Amino acid sequence: MAYNDNEIFNLIEDERIRQTKGIELIASENYVSDDVLAAAGSILTNKYAEGYPGKRYYGGCEVVDEIENIAIDRAKELFNAEYINVQPHSGSQANTAVYHACLNPGDKILGFDLSHGGHLTHGSPVNFSGKLYKNAFYGVEKETGRLDYDKIEEIAVKEQPKLIIAGASAYSREIDYKRFRDIADKVGAILMADIAHPAGLIAKGIMMDAVVHAHICTTTTHKTLRGPRGGMIIMGKDFENPFGQKLKNGNLKKMSSLLNSGVFPGNQGGPLEHIIAAKAVAFKEALSEDFLHYMVQVKKNAEVMAAEFVARGYDIISGGTDNHMMLIDLRNKNINGKEAEALLGQIHITVNKNMVPFDTESPFVTSGIRIGTAAITTRGLKEDSMKTIVDLIDRCLTGNPDNLSKLEDEVYTLTEGLPLFKA
Ligand code: PLP
Repeated sequence: MAYNDNEIFNLIEDERIRQTKGIELIASENYVSDDVLAAAGSILTNKYAEGYPGKRYYGGCEVVDEIENIAIDRAKELFNAEYINVQPHSGSQANTAVYHACLNPGDKILGFDLSHGGHLTHGSPVNFSGKLYKNAFYGVEKETGRLDYDKIEEIAVKEQPKLIIAGASAYSREIDYKRFRDIADKVGAILMADIAHPAGLIAKGIMMDAVVHAHICTTTTHKTLRGPRGGMIIMGKDFENPFGQKLKNGNLKKMSSLLNSGVFPGNQGGPLEHIIAAKAVAFKEALSEDFLHYMVQVKKNAEVMAAEFVARGYDIISGGTDNHMMLIDLRNKNINGKEAEALLGQIHITVNKNMVPFDTESPFVTSGIRIGTAAITTRGLKEDSMKTIVDLIDRCLTGNPDNLSKLEDEVYTLTEGLPLFKA
């Protein structure tokens, strides 16, 4: 198909080539299917549909109502959930909507420290979550790189937060949502599990189910879940819980209605129905047996990769991984995260620099890199290729810089013949 705006469409083609030729190791990225891509790029982008199915503020919503209801039903099946909101434009918007629904400005939230692996929206002072709400943080232990739940309980008892966030952007271990719920119940807080990263693994029963334990879960739809960029709110058994009553100045509404209004009109206008359609397509894919095999392979690939790094003397935070990612402290390799990201970029391996717990470098430099296997597993790569990739990374970071073009050729040999998109 010919387009009129060559400037932009030529750049999109450049990006298609970049995504196809390179090895994509950013833990929050993935490659969507052609069906997801087609739905996301469909004429549904033309439609305004403020409100919810059956209760819109615009006419002509009969088709998008059906689409949104299908997306909700599929997500309910996928997560064994009682309540789903598919409208958040992103993971951050989902978190914003939950805080909006559950908290008043000035209330306290307890989240995973950003510099230990948490997310900006978990109370960071540079984010609305740290500006509008009082914040308190828990982090990982220096010796183990893991969460210590007794310490989290101590912090919760001391800080008395109204909402606790369980979840992270760079934590490679299982999160004990049951223990988090016990802590939340003890201090009378709401537990929100942010499962943006492990959502696909949780949906397929490979990691601990957050939906049965947390009052509310939020997620992105584009990481391990392999859908379009977007967010979602999920609730299990607590969906009718009227705890809004004690949290929102005598508001007696049940939680599901508070959350719906937290998204719209609280925090967003018209939902992106093209993206909601793409979410529905992705949820159908995620319900399949194939997706279970995919998720099992993602985890296996991450395990093999982490073990190979450890065997080569790399310091993996916590010593390994239970999910799709790992965080590598590069200090013993005499290179910082910024340099490593740039060097690997030269051979077309894409990673992101990342703070490691107790980092001595700034967030713009960092001492580490974060690596994930969701995208490369979508391309069909298995355990053997993980060892090859670690070998390429190791030679790139610790070898002779003159050999970079040879390494780049080896990257292309690995990705050749692994087409991603229809020609
Ligand atoms: N929550 C966690 C744990 C994340 O890792 C991310 C994104 O990286 C988000 C929320 C926010 O998602 P988005 O970038 O879609 O706003």
